[in-house]
This record gives sequence, C-alpha cells and structure tokens, in this order.
Amino acid sequence: MTRPPAERTRIRDRLRSGTRFLITSHARPDGDSLGSQLALAEALTRLGKRVRLVNSDPPPGRYAFLPGAPAIEVAETVEAGADTVVVLECGALGRTEVSGLEGRFIVNIDHHTGNTRYGAVNWVDESACACGELVFELIEALGTRLTPSIATNLYVAILTDTGSFRHANITARTFEICRRLADAGVDAAAVAARVFNNGSLGRLRLTGRVLDRMQLEDDGRVAVLAVDEAMLRETGCDADDLEGVVNLPLAAGDVRAVILLKQAGTGLRVSLRSKDAIDVRRVAVPFGGGGHRNAAGLTIEAPSPDVRARLVTEVAAAVAESRSA
Ligand code: AMP
Ligand code: MN
Repeated sequence: MTRPPAERTRIRDRLRSGTRFLITSHARPDGDSLGSQLALAEALTRLGKRVRLVNSDPPPGRYAFLPGAPAIEVAETVEAGADTVVVLECGALGRTEVSGLEGRFIVNIDHHTGNTRYGAVNWVDESACACGELVFELIEALGTRLTPSIATNLYVAILTDTGSFRHANITARTFEICRRLADAGVDAAAVAARVFNNGSLGRLRLTGRVLDRMQLEDDGRVAVLAVDEAMLRETGCDADDLEGVVNLPLAAGDVRAVILLKQAGTGLRVSLRSKDAIDVRRVAVPFGGGGHRNAAGLTIEAPSPDVRARLVTEVAAAVAESRSA
C-alpha cells in the first residue's frame, strides 16, 4: 500500500462531520474532473449532506449525459456558505478559475505532479491513474453504496484520463476498481459510445484539418499542431472539440512528442504529450504550466513570436534527454 492513508482518513472524517460542501475542479472541465465531482457529490448527498457543485465553465456536450451533470453551477466566484470546499484534480488552486475559495477549509484531492498543497488537508497521489481512482477509494472509505450512477461517473473519469486505458499509471488497482464499477452497473460500451462516438461532423472535419496541417520537427520526432479561431469558426466547433486531438499524432511510431498550439483570444493555450520516459511536464513548468510526465499544458497570455520555436527546442531537448538516459 503506497497510498498515504492518513490524509484519506482525515478527509473521510471531515466529510462525515461536515454538513455543507462545495465541490469544485478545474476550468474547462474534462471527464476526470466531472466524473470525480459528480460521484463524490452523490455519495455526500446520500449521507444527508448539502452539496453544491461549482465550476468556472460548463461541462462539454459529450459529458452532459453524466448522471447529475445538470446540477453543476457555473460561476466565477463563490460566496461563503459551505463548511468544507473540496477541490478535485487541481495542481494549484488557481486552476479552478473560481475566486472566493482562498482562506476556506479546503480538501485538496489530486494526482498531478507538483501539486502546491493549497488545502487544509492534501491528498495527492501521483501514482493514481485518475482523480476518480482516489474518489473511488474515498467513497469506499465512507462506506456509501456504489450506485450505478456513481459507478458510471467514476468509470468515465478513469476511461478518459487513461486515454482509454493507454497511459502510464494504469495498474492492477485500476482494473480492480473498474471491475467493481462494472459490477455496480456500468455499461462500458454505452459509456464509450456517448463519450467518443457522439461528436459533430464539424469536429471530425476540424480533426482532419488540424492533422492535415501537422508539421514535423526534430527529424520527425516532434509533431506540432496549431489551431486558430478561424478553423474553429469554419468547422462550427469550439475549443472543447479539440479534446483528444493532441494525442492523435502519437499513433505514428516515429512521433515521440506532440505540441498543440491553440489560439485563445490574444493568448495561447498549449497542450503537450509524449511517449515513454519523455517528460513534457518539465517543459511546461517554466512557462507556468504543469500536468503529468506524458501530458502537460500551459497558457501564455501574451505569446512572443518565437514561442513555437522555444517550445520545439525544449520538447526536442526532453526527447533527447530520454534517449540518452
Ligand atoms: P491538457 O493538455 O489541457 O489536456 O492538459 C494536460 C495536463 O496538463 C492535465 O493534467 C492538466 O491538468 C495539465 N495542465 C494543462 N494546462 C495547465 C496549466 N495552465 N497549468 C497547470 N497544469 C496544466
Ligand atoms: Mn486527471
């Protein structure tokens, strides 16, 4: 057992003794943040607690089917009220893009490397494949029943954050949890169809266009994708439709890492992906970003003209470092 049970026990006790909870997660939510939030919210509600779910952005359409999703409030600021704020899946408090959380009793549950431990209690387990894995353990510790809806939310968290069971940090424990979730009533094929096979034709066209314009650097080891707002407009898409696109170049054996540049107003959002031991989180951190070894991101508010070249240089260096290791 490598997990720190002391923090989990403290959190379990706080959840049992508290009465009013606010659960939040990162801006531009994904399957792990939403599934984790909704599963924990249902478990607490079943224990008779009052629970509010607040995020700075609404769930993307592909996650609107998640049980309980309509209860999520969208707000940029929250007023006092809850005795405990649970922040899930956030390496730093600022990732919520929700203000009014500072100074509250925060329970921080996360699996990102370099979590800043902003909570009154911090349960950070980098070995977890998804935050949903930690929420599963917490719900188990609380002793609440694994309902089909809780199980479905946790399954979506794990399915999406592991890239459909392809990423690092997948362990026997991951499959054991999924076995329990299936036992509790998850329809895995139906979930996969809702998440992956229910997008718009525009999204498919956008994906084609982005891949068609892919550029290769570092002798084909680094793929660079770029999306501007015109491409989104012309295909009738929004930034949410790009989820997963950054992983696609990894399908080519020679591609070792991917840089996706997304124009966001005058700023730039960057997603980085890599294979094996190549550490792209270390590329993201000096730019103020973060994430995991093989999946990281960063935001640049005022990008300089050489930002693409700088990122290529740094990612190529990370690729070289892993080859010489
Ligand atoms: P994305 O490329 O947006 O899917 O993010 C990949 C990973 O990097 C996720 O684990 C994110 O939580 C993390 N990440 C993305 N953007 C940032 C950022 N600006 N700061 C810290 N972590 C980030
Ligand atoms: Mn996650």
